[in-house]
Amino acid sequence: MFRIRGHTLLCLQGFQGKGYDDKFIANMKKIHETLFNDPTTEVEIVAGPDDICYSCPYLKGNGCTLKGPESEKDVIEKDNSVIEFLGFKPSGRHKWEEILQRISETVNASMLIGLCDKCPWFPLGYCEEGILRLKRLTDSHC
Ligand code: SF4
Repeated sequence: MFRIRGHTLLCLQGFQGKGYDDKFIANMKKIHETLFNDPTTEVEIVAGPDDICYSCPYLKGNGCTLKGPESEKDVIEKDNSVIEFLGFKPSGRHKWEEILQRISETVNASMLIGLCDKCPWFPLGYCEEGILRLKRLTDSHC
C-alpha cells in the first residue's frame, strides 16, 4: 500500500520521468510503475506528506517548502480540495483502479487549471496529456 497526497493523484497521471532530483525521480518512478502495473494496489489518500514527498528535496521537517516555509498549509488545502472534488474522504483507502476510474469520470483536462492552481509543472502540459490518456484507457475498457 502507498500513502498518496490528494493532489498527487493527479500529478501521477502526468508523470513523465521528470522531477526535482534523481532520488525524487527514482522513487516516483517506482511508485508510478507499481500502481500502473498492478492497479489493484491499495492507496491511502492523505492530506499531508506522502510516500512521494519522503524522497523530495523540498520536504523539511514535517512539510513541503517548495514555495517557502509555509508551503505545507497551501499544499494541504490543495490536497483537500482534490479529495473532495473526487468524492473521496481524507485517509480513505481505495484500489488504484478505483481512483483511476473516479478521476476519469470527474476530471476533464480543462478543469486542471483550477485544481492545479499555480503548480510549476502545469504549463508543461504533461498533466492535461495524462488526463486525456487516462480517459482513452478507461473508455477502451468499458
Ligand atoms: S514535498 Fe512538496 S514539492 Fe515535494 S513532492 Fe511533496 S508536495 Fe510535492
